[in-house]
Amino acid sequence: MSINTHPALPEFEYYRPATLVEASEFLASHSAEARPFLGGTDVFVRMRDGFMTPKFLVDVKNLDGTNDLRFDPQAGLTIGAAVNMNRVAASPEVQAHYPLLAEACQSVASYQLRTRATIVGNLCNASPAGDTLGACLLFDGVLQVHGVNGLRQEPLSTFFLGPGKTTLKPGDFVTAIHFPIPPKGCQGTYLKLGRNKLSDLSIVGVTALGYPDLKLPSGYRFRLALASVAPVPLVVAEVETCLGKQAVTPETLREAARLAGEACAPIDDVRGSARYRKQMAKNLSAKALNEVWEKIKRVGLKAG
Ligand SMILES: Cc1cc2nc3c(=O)[nH]c(=O)nc-3n(C[C@H](O)[C@H](O)[C@H](O)COP(=O)(O)OP(=O)(O)OC[C@H]3O[C@@H](n4cnc5c(N)ncnc54)[C@H](O)[C@@H]3O)c2cc1C
Repeated sequence: MSINTHPALPEFEYYRPATLVEASEFLASHSAEARPFLGGTDVFVRMRDGFMTPKFLVDVKNLDGTNDLRFDPQAGLTIGAAVNMNRVAASPEVQAHYPLLAEACQSVASYQLRTRATIVGNLCNASPAGDTLGACLLFDGVLQVHGVNGLRQEPLSTFFLGPGKTTLKPGDFVTAIHFPIPPKGCQGTYLKLGRNKLSDLSIVGVTALGYPDLKLPSGYRFRLALASVAPVPLVVAEVETCLGKQAVTPETLREAARLAGEACAPIDDVRGSARYRKQMAKNLSAKALNEVWEKIKRVGLKAG
């Protein structure tokens, strides 16, 4: 067997539409052979490795609004599709109101890669290992999608259909992601288990968020999302129910983490076995939920 140690990119044509409408029309009329791209950190690697061979790459980085990062104290945060992860992580508004998003971005590969990689590319790549998917889901992200019939909104909660599969149709591309204002007192953490500290996809990723919520018997709502343990990123509803209906204690936090471990359906792959992943999903969920609970208590003490 011969191994090609210098794989090269296959030939392709670069197309740069001038408007959103032009981009959707081109993508729709060449649906089998054209792909949108942003930073290209997934696209070019997959093309080089022979997993995709689009005839046209459609550069959607310079279109209307795709480079904007806007925060409005009433409406929330909108991140244009072309905004790279370093810019998101460095934004004072993101750091002040959505620090979990900054933390998730900073867990991706290296600083150099993050000057190209975008959150929207991470989402549209739809890898269940994507590091920013959990934070985007827990902050109730809504995608702004442009298609042949114009702009529409799509909640992220129903966007992922399987590895590499989303609800996007021919002609569709994402122009931005919007997040509402997070609940008051919201605390979060992202724990990523990789084979090394830098530049590796997660074996397991756990995103946890919690905040006071007087509508629930416990007085607190916890949300938890798991990466790399199912065909799609997993928001574990059982965790929210478990910690919402009864007092938050070391025992109930442990029970919620056990439910998270039970909810996942991982596979064996080069980065880890299914058994190891399931166990680590439980252990890291326990750690993440405890960290969030400690942060909530600290802030509560300061406020009270
Ligand atoms: C060395 C290396 C290390 C990496 N490490 C990590 C890591 O630690 N964690 C992690 O999560 N990822 C990692 N990745 C993967 C990658 O960097 C991320 O998924 C990144 O966020 C992709 O963003 P991008 O802008 O480069 O996307 P692109 O490569 O441009 O696009 C990604 C996918 O989305 C589609 N797409 C792009 N733009 C749009 C749009 N506007 N609308 C609809 N579909 C669109 C493309 O067709 C493609 O399928 C790594 C990649 C490399 C090369």
